[in-house]
Amino acid sequence: MEINYPIPKEVSRVTETLRNAGFEAYLVGGCVRDILQGIKPKDWDATTNATPEQIQALFENSFYENDYGTVGIVNETEDETLNVVEVTPYRTEGAYTDKRRPDSVSFHGKLDDDLTRRDFTINAIAFDDSKGHLKDISNGLKDIKDKVLRTVGNPEERFNEDALRVLRAVRLATDLGFTIESETQNAIVKKAGDLKHISMERIRDEFSKMIMTKNPMVGIVICQKLGLLKYIAPDLERGIGVEQNGDHIYTVWEHNLRALQHAADRDWPLHVRLGALFHDVSKPETRRWSDEKNNWTFYGHDVVGGRVTEKALERLKYPKKIVEVVTLLVRHHLFFSDIEKITLSAARRIVKNVGPDNVWDLMKVRACDRIGMGRPKEAPYRLRKYESMIEEAMRAPVSVGMLKIDGVKIMEVTRETPGPKLGFILHALLEEVLDDPERNTEEYLVKRTLDLAKLPIDELKKLGEEGKGKKDEAEQGELAVIRKRHGVN
Ligand code: ATP
Ligand code: MG
Repeated sequence: MEINYPIPKEVSRVTETLRNAGFEAYLVGGCVRDILQGIKPKDWDATTNATPEQIQALFENSFYENDYGTVGIVNETEDETLNVVEVTPYRTEGAYTDKRRPDSVSFHGKLDDDLTRRDFTINAIAFDDSKGHLKDISNGLKDIKDKVLRTVGNPEERFNEDALRVLRAVRLATDLGFTIESETQNAIVKKAGDLKHISMERIRDEFSKMIMTKNPMVGIVICQKLGLLKYIAPDLERGIGVEQNGDHIYTVWEHNLRALQHAADRDWPLHVRLGALFHDVSKPETRRWSDEKNNWTFYGHDVVGGRVTEKALERLKYPKKIVEVVTLLVRHHLFFSDIEKITLSAARRIVKNVGPDNVWDLMKVRACDRIGMGRPKEAPYRLRKYESMIEEAMRAPVSVGMLKIDGVKIMEVTRETPGPKLGFILHALLEEVLDDPERNTEEYLVKRTLDLAKLPIDELKKLGEEGKGKKDEAEQGELAVIRKRHGVN
């Protein structure tokens, strides 16, 4: 396999600088694995025999990253975005007694030692980008060709050192579409329980990466089959084998997974994917048989599901913002159940419940729910009708409330007391602002108020009524624009 992937200049500058200073330098890890397959790497890692201090001395924009001596070097790329090349000194590791970290790390190793401490053969290839040479002591290249994920060395021992690797195995296999080699797989099953010793933050990061691959459904199914899921999101497993009512051809478990997969197929963001995955999490515990309906019911699964989701994501240490949004999406995923109910007040309630920032994501979860049931996409007209209604519900109405002046201010400048005259003035002002929005400044409106207040009441009343008419017209006009844009009436 040839490497003909173009290495970005900022990246080769880093390895070149190290070499020019007399050190060895190789690209290594995920980026080599990816470029060997012609995939764009997510990040660039290099390894060297220089110490952290020696690395830092060579680069201006560099910083220490972690306990492993990694130095991050910040570059500006051609398209003016920043990228970071992470340089880690060759490292060998002492014994592992706590199943997650080496007891000691030493930076005096050789390249081969650094490669053998890595997790999987496909991640343990070093690439000398000046010569185009690969250093591949664990036969990673062959595994890439065969699409096989295999630990470097004895799998059980490697999982004993750091149990997170069992999840990394599934995440990488999912992402790359590789098969997990059988001994590696057996060891995963055997060591799954050691995930208990791993911090939720590390588990969450791998889990999120898996959710963000193109095939998260497969990833979660494998996690479940190999016994990892119960240490990550045990609530989801309760849906296995749980049959639903007539509308549903899939069990709760499969439905949640298919909903998630649709979110991935549409390339929707993490919180939408999590919302889809968890949306029916509480159907199993709310399922009741109804003789009257001769069917299963799931009353309250949205409310209970919201709470269960919140707890599950908090346990995984997701940031507060994500927990909040996903919980809202699950809590409110049942809405607009049939076309008769698409009213403006229903749309307003939805916007109020989830907030204007989340309402479109709620529509996405709804789409996942449908597709996850094996039903066709929402009829286009109906979908556009929902969208139009939501937009109508979210826009600020045309009213005197838009004015940069209010009744109190008018009374202050005119010394009027409350009464119909105030309303006439406000509507007369609104008419002027609708004619020319530039007039909507306090200065202009105060000046006009003083003029209007001098008019005889009959004349003012007439102006006010004209203003009201104009307001209704403007209101209808805005709604018509929204409906036209969505192609509904
Ligand atoms: P990604 O494409 O998501 O960045 P990656 O394989 O590069 O995947 P990183 O977490 O960036 O994953 O790690 C970089 C490299 O460090 C890996 O390729 C692997 O060689 C090594 N590595 C990472 N985590 C571990 C671990 N838990 N045990 C052993 N080696 C690891
Ligand atoms: Mg990486």
